[in-house]
Amino acid sequence: MQEDSEGFRYPVINSELCIHCGLCHKVCPAEHMPEASQDEKYAFGGYHNSLYVRKFSTSGGAFTAIAQEWAEQNPDYFLFGAASKGLAVFHYGIDNIRKLPVICKSKYSQSRIGDTFVQVRDALKSGKKVLFSGTPCQVAGLKAFLRNADTANLLLVEVICEGVPSPLYIRKLDDHIFKTYGSRIKKLDYRSKGQKCSPESFKWDFQRMSLELEDGRIFEKDRWFNPYWSIWLQHLMSRPSCYECPFTTTERQADITLGDLWGVHLYCPELYGNNGGASLIVCNTEKGRTLWQAAEKRFTGHALDFETALKYQGPMRKHIDVNPQREECMNDLADESMSYSEICEKWAKKPDAKLLFQKYVWGNRQKVFVWNLKNKK
Ligand SMILES: Cc1cc2nc3c(=O)[nH]c(=O)nc-3n(C[C@H](O)[C@H](O)[C@H](O)COP(=O)(O)OP(=O)(O)OC[C@H]3O[C@@H](n4cnc5c(N)ncnc54)[C@H](O)[C@@H]3O)c2cc1C
Repeated sequence: MQEDSEGFRYPVINSELCIHCGLCHKVCPAEHMPEASQDEKYAFGGYHNSLYVRKFSTSGGAFTAIAQEWAEQNPDYFLFGAASKGLAVFHYGIDNIRKLPVICKSKYSQSRIGDTFVQVRDALKSGKKVLFSGTPCQVAGLKAFLRNADTANLLLVEVICEGVPSPLYIRKLDDHIFKTYGSRIKKLDYRSKGQKCSPESFKWDFQRMSLELEDGRIFEKDRWFNPYWSIWLQHLMSRPSCYECPFTTTERQADITLGDLWGVHLYCPELYGNNGGASLIVCNTEKGRTLWQAAEKRFTGHALDFETALKYQGPMRKHIDVNPQREECMNDLADESMSYSEICEKWAKKPDAKLLFQKYVWGNRQKVFVWNLKNKK
């Protein structure tokens, strides 16, 4: 895998070693899309009963509930997901549920698969029950890689995904931090819910990016003032393939699809859970549904109408559009003479008064609070 000038990695064939068997083409999901499930969908919304799990999950902790159930049902299990060390994000397998936090939480950068597909194949061959989680393209890649292997013992979990940003931005941020504070980023939580573990202080739809430096200092930045989110969500620095992603449809490759329960305050405010985070769980196969329904006991929530949930989930309906200024922005990011501050000044939008009012004065939390008051009467 070699990195291009935008920081994205691509497979490169070593022509001296290649025997022209064509297997790489046969297992490429971009060339041969694996079959999606035609089973009836089952959608569920809610949050994990453990406050601790919710705090250390991006949404409502559905991934933890599924992993816990998988480990409880299967004594000989393996769990794969995305872990991180410093700025690096990579797939990693664990065989002890106590290590689960390592592969929890969303890292908004493409994870390196490494040899985890081979590990999955070998674990299945040796009779282990394997749960693999990743983005929809990674799940499709694994399915294609496994070809005709017996996958009865495999559960596939994917996150709803609207793309991955170039790692160049975060690297520039790290250099900026180092120049300013003399210490590099040790831990990066893209969507921290806050430092305290109390429901009053949770900030799911108001997340902050939290940076822990090697020297122990912690910095947090509100979502609305964070240039990272502004630049990425203007679709100025996504991976080129994400602009034509074939997985952004209701046809899913995984047994279970997980996302944030966006729109919760509009169609099921009882699941808002004081802004502690709420999950949308979509079961695409009977296998996924059976597992999730067993995991539901760890959750507060209820079944949802799939079509209603879909309205609030753009990445399950369509891929992102290319921003016409993307190329210029990527050139700036790749330009070593352009500093982090110059990038932010040129490309990030500052929040306007309306947004600030919505987020800091009259936001979802307040709306749900009023809804609760009315419904208690
Ligand atoms: C790149 C990315 C984009 C996303 N975009 C959306 C979106 O547009 N809308 C939406 O509703 N939800 C999106 N999500 C999903 C959402 O952020 C949560 O991951 C999901 O709701 C599960 O949260 P949880 O509370 O159940 O568990 P968590 O414990 O937060 O679980 C996170 C899960 O994501 C996996 N994961 C984390 N980082 C990566 C990564 N870099 N690559 C592959 N897998 C990873 C973990 O292994 C784990 O399975 C995205 C996630 C990622 C990683």
